[in-house]
Parts: sequence; structure tokens; C-alpha cells
Amino acid sequence: MNDTKTAMAKAVCNGCKQEFECPESMLKTQEHYCWVCCELMAQGVEEKDLEGQRKLRENEIQVDMLRQRVADAYTEFAFPKWWADEKTSLKTLSKRELAEECFNAGTDAFLDYIIANQKDGKEQIRTLKKMAEIFEQKAQEKEIDEL
Ligand SMILES: [Zn+2]
Repeated sequence: MNDTKTAMAKAVCNGCKQEFECPESMLKTQEHYCWVCCELMAQGVEEKDLEGQRKLRENEIQVDMLRQRVADAYTEFAFPKWWADEKTSLKTLSKRELAEECFNAGTDAFLDYIIANQKDGKEQIRTLKKMAEIFEQKAQEKEIDEL
């Protein structure tokens, strides 16, 4: 890893016209775009629409990016121990069973977080029962659709 700090500077985004922080080296280029506008352009938004779209969709884009950041950070944190504990038993599984096992481990990690943020055991039980009912209902509806 590179430990040298990147010098930061302020620039005005060509898209949304808002000031944003960027690496000093970026000031050498003619055009500067903030991370939200970069994401919007990657999604196909035209430059003339960036200012309006940014106002409308900033929270949504930030939530998407933070979700990915949390998922990446949690995977980096929790995967090594899970892998060390499970890799022997995973070798006997088919690819589908393996994928299901990994998906389940991700869901379990998500539930750890949900449970840790409830005020007490009663609230944990209430929340988990409600979630179980919702997903059991959805699974049942899906089975009916597939008949
Ligand atoms: Zn912008």
C-alpha cells in the first residue's frame, strides 16, 4: 500500500457547478467532475442534465455507494475467519450449494448487525419474527408463481 497522502484541493464541478474536494493533480485537467456527477454520467445522464439530476438523486447515489462500501468492508473483516472455519466442509458442495452457503453467510452477517442494534432481547425476537414472516411469505408467493 502507498502511505503517502495525496494533496487535496478544491475545484468546481463542470456538471453540477458545486465545489468539491479533489486530488491537486486533477486541477491540471480542463474539466473537473465531482464523484456524484461521475456516477451520473456512468449511468448515462447527459452533461446538460447533471445539475438537476444531482439535486434529485444525490441521496440515492450516496446510499448505493455506502452500501457497497459497507459490504466490501464487512467482507474484508469477516470473510477470512469464515473461510478458515468453513473451507474444509465447503469442498464437498456443488457450485449451487456453495453459492447458497455463501449467500446464507452474508445474510447471517447482516442479521448480526440488525440484532446488535435492537434495544433488548424482546425487540430482537419481535424484529426477527417479523422478518421471518415477511421472507417466508415472499418465498411462498414465489413458489405459487412458479407452479
Ligand atoms: Zn458535480
